[in-house]
Amino acid sequence: MALIVQKYGGTSVGNPERIRNCARRILETQRAGNQVVAVVSAMSGVTDTLIKLAREVSPECEPVEREMDVLLATGEQTTIALTAMAINALGGKAVSLTGAQAGISTDRVHTKARIVNITPDAVHKMLDDGNIVMLAGFQGETASGEITTLGRGGSDLTAIAMAAAIKADLCQIYTDVDGVYTCDPRVVKTARKIDEISYEEMLEMASSGSKVMQSRSVEFANKFGVRFEVRSSMNHNPGTIVKEETPGMESVVVRGVSLERNQAKVTIDDVADRPGISAAIFGAITQANITIDMIVQNVSFDGITDISFTLSAADLPKAEAALKAVLPNLGDKATLRTQGGIAKVSVVGIGMRSHSGVAAKMFKALADAKINIQMISTSEIKTAVIVEETEVENAARVVHTAFGLDA
Ligand code: ADP
Ligand code: ASP
Ligand code: MG
Repeated sequence: MALIVQKYGGTSVGNPERIRNCARRILETQRAGNQVVAVVSAMSGVTDTLIKLAREVSPECEPVEREMDVLLATGEQTTIALTAMAINALGGKAVSLTGAQAGISTDRVHTKARIVNITPDAVHKMLDDGNIVMLAGFQGETASGEITTLGRGGSDLTAIAMAAAIKADLCQIYTDVDGVYTCDPRVVKTARKIDEISYEEMLEMASSGSKVMQSRSVEFANKFGVRFEVRSSMNHNPGTIVKEETPGMESVVVRGVSLERNQAKVTIDDVADRPGISAAIFGAITQANITIDMIVQNVSFDGITDISFTLSAADLPKAEAALKAVLPNLGDKATLRTQGGIAKVSVVGIGMRSHSGVAAKMFKALADAKINIQMISTSEIKTAVIVEETEVENAARVVHTAFGLDA
């Protein structure tokens, strides 16, 4: 008998028929002689609808984050109950548990809480009593009993963290594609399913826009050595195994291509070239709770220079307000410029550590397609560029082809 954690995403539980499909699959897994904990997301679109409702009742200010969590946690609470009902209707025995009931303790950072501890006593007890445990994804509770959520896509984290806590034999992430592809298959039709990928590559892909896995969940899996499989809830095809790096993996130079839309660029022209300027700029940005991505500073000329950085377009108004307040401290001539409508394309692969020429090949492919590169950043296993958002899909396709990833 194996102990199996499965996770079904929003599309997989998107309507009553699909919930029954998941219920059948979960029940089959149990009837094959296993204990099953099944994590579910909210039905597709529900979390977005709840966020929209919150904004509509609170147009004057951002809704209080504590209340956001109370609201957003209801999406998953709906699907655990519905899936448990469907399993029971099919002749199985299922019990639903919220994150709190399942012993998932988090810190107090509402809307993006971190799991600090899991006490899975209730989960074990229900399993030992012959139940399927339907576990609400994306949520936990603080030490003082407040409801928290784990950031968008957080049901992936619930599944991986619970798999670690109960020492599951298998962790399966069921979604609406057959696995992790060399690029989003909805954008690059010639993308191929990857059989095996290292945690590090999966993490870089997830954090550069491949939203098939929540990046924090991959970080967690890496830290605690939780191997998992990403596969489809609609068929029985083998998926993608995400696991520790093995020797053969480095022979593939580029494992995949990611794209991230809705980016924006902030440029501060003519800032004084003296100590403390960057600290003032990025101190203000941090104070405003904004995460930034690429940073570029020009070589200075006549004691002045330019600094640009990118961020999520949604954070642009907050960033502008924060920077206007410190602009007078950045030099007499400093001016602020912003630009939306840009996007990022990244190539990722641990083989980049031992192979050169990746950046040149990427830039050549973009040049041949007449796509202008606005910014560049590199890390040990990633090269990323900023392009016009209207060109991002074409950019992903030509880069995908250039690295021989097409099916
Ligand atoms: P779920 O609701 O199951 O959590 P998500 O929508 O979060 O599903 O993730 C699955 C989606 O991720 C796919 O439908 C696909 O469009 C997108 N995606 C982006 N990049 C990739 C990739 N490299 N491989 C597979 N899917 C990807
Ligand atoms: N329902 C949450 C979201 O849409 C969590 C998840 O689906 O993983 O982000
Ligand atoms: Mg997801």
